[in-house]
Amino acid sequence: MKTIDLVVPCFNEEAGLENFVVETNRVISELPEYSFRYILINDGSRDKTYLVMKKLAKRFSNIKYISFSRNFGKEAAMYAGLQHTTADFVVVMDADLQHPPEVFPRMLEAMEQGYDCCAAKRDSREGEKLFRGIFSKLFFRLSNRLTDVKNPYGAMDYRMMTRQMVDSVLELSEVQRFSKGIFSWVGFDTKWISIKTVDRQLGESTWKFSSLFRYAIDGITCFSVAPLRFTAVMGAVIFFISLIYILITLIQTLFFGITTPGYVTTLCAVLFLGGITEMSIGILGEYIGRIYMETKDRPIYITKFSNFEDENNEETEDEPYGE
Ligand code: UDP
Ligand code: MG
Repeated sequence: MKTIDLVVPCFNEEAGLENFVVETNRVISELPEYSFRYILINDGSRDKTYLVMKKLAKRFSNIKYISFSRNFGKEAAMYAGLQHTTADFVVVMDADLQHPPEVFPRMLEAMEQGYDCCAAKRDSREGEKLFRGIFSKLFFRLSNRLTDVKNPYGAMDYRMMTRQMVDSVLELSEVQRFSKGIFSWVGFDTKWISIKTVDRQLGESTWKFSSLFRYAIDGITCFSVAPLRFTAVMGAVIFFISLIYILITLIQTLFFGITTPGYVTTLCAVLFLGGITEMSIGILGEYIGRIYMETKDRPIYITKFSNFEDENNEETEDEPYGE
């Protein structure tokens, strides 16, 4: 019997987690030829997610959990989950049912056909804010052009992978993780299936526009040095333009005696160059910041509690959040 591990990052999901497990179990029960196991990761939730998790683990023997010492972010949670997988196939999915378990059969079909990965992409972006839609389209275009990472528009993290692919993903142990990029970077044959997305039923999305903007910057800088090259090219172009300008002005003053135009030209040049210099330093800073964080080599996450046998999970009876 083939085994499947479901990696589910959870942050403030107390409202929907039980429902998620119930719904997923319903789908699982129709796939008796596979053995499923949940790996739930409590990413430092500030609500009772951990307690719900523990309760669920008592009720269902196939639920494993890891609870972080604080919020490390979804990427860290996915990494922790993947590290604990042992199954033949591994699924990463959200806990809010926006990644519907109903597509498991379609994913399994692709896997049995020999694909290494079956990933979901959004079919429609109904209900999405116009501005957000335009921005995300732009991001997919830009990152596909600038980086080795090729993802179709609407690509989601939701996917099923083979053991071999998961092991490759884990080999990329960088601290600043950008999973969509990593999944694509490792290669392997991916089948994309379109799914209809639904609005989050319970709880709240943690994404704000500013964090999406950061996410987009990460997506590009983690996989490409094109912005750095861009500043160098821009510097060269400006250098040549100014060289021509200097020559023309020199010739004009020497041979025709035309006085050089006034301070507006100077002002424009200073402001223009100042702006470009600032921007270049900013881009440089983005990369230096990344080098700095990466060289610290800090752990990607810290576990506080877990019900994996091999881990130190001496838990006191005092419930951390009370009940
Ligand atoms: N999540 C997490 N850590 C975080 C933020 C989110 O583990 O810091 C989890 C969250 O519980 C959910 C998934 O990541 O299972 C996706 O989060 P969310 O639904 O907020 O994002 P969206 O669906 O809007 O992309
Ligand atoms: Mg969601």
